[in-house]
Amino acid sequence: MRILIVEDEAKTGIYLRKGLNETGFVADWVADGVSGLHQAQTEDYDLIILDVMLPGQDGWSILHELRKTRLTPVLFLTARDDVGDRVKGLELGADDYLAKPFDFVELVARVRSILRRGQSRDSSTLKVADLELDVTRRKATRHGKTILLTAKEFALLWLLMRRQGEILPRSTIASQVWDMNFNSDTNVVDAVIRRVRAKVDDDVEPKLIHTVRGMGYVLEERARPSE
Ligand code: CA
Repeated sequence: MRILIVEDEAKTGIYLRKGLNETGFVADWVADGVSGLHQAQTEDYDLIILDVMLPGQDGWSILHELRKTRLTPVLFLTARDDVGDRVKGLELGADDYLAKPFDFVELVARVRSILRRGQSRDSSTLKVADLELDVTRRKATRHGKTILLTAKEFALLWLLMRRQGEILPRSTIASQVWDMNFNSDTNVVDAVIRRVRAKVDDDVEPKLIHTVRGMGYVLEERARPSE
């Protein structure tokens, strides 16, 4: 598995390259955005670890450019755990985030998780039953009919779909979509779930978004009708 690291801090870049190589990956490191984008477009990588704050060209614009032609999974490194950064990255098509400073073990866990998901992904379209999400074109359809989603609703549905079958606690949803911590009021999660569910599941069978009492939410196709 080949990984490209785009990171202008030499200390972090060298540390990541060394650590990932020792973990069994083949890792390349480039220190500026322009070379990062060029390398990402011309070489074949299984994953790109992309710093947001870069000289020359920042992580946002690199991802924006890259997504026009490539779907290489991207793990963003953000300087701080910022709600705006996360949502922006997710909307641009990032696969995951890690706020600095991070733990190397955590980084490797995220990398492995993204690579596992990526292996089953052969296009930018996620599909569960007759629900389809075109990530590149940011378009959702159910039974062939277009579903109009706000940015937050899209982010939420995308999270549920790319982790389909996995029960996601409200705290996970909150941290992935809103960057709220565990103790935050998660009613906002329930509210947006209700809106997405109305758009996705109302008047259509089978229901795909399910509440798992006391645990969270899961998107999956079930044989039996949901409660
Ligand atoms: Ca940086």
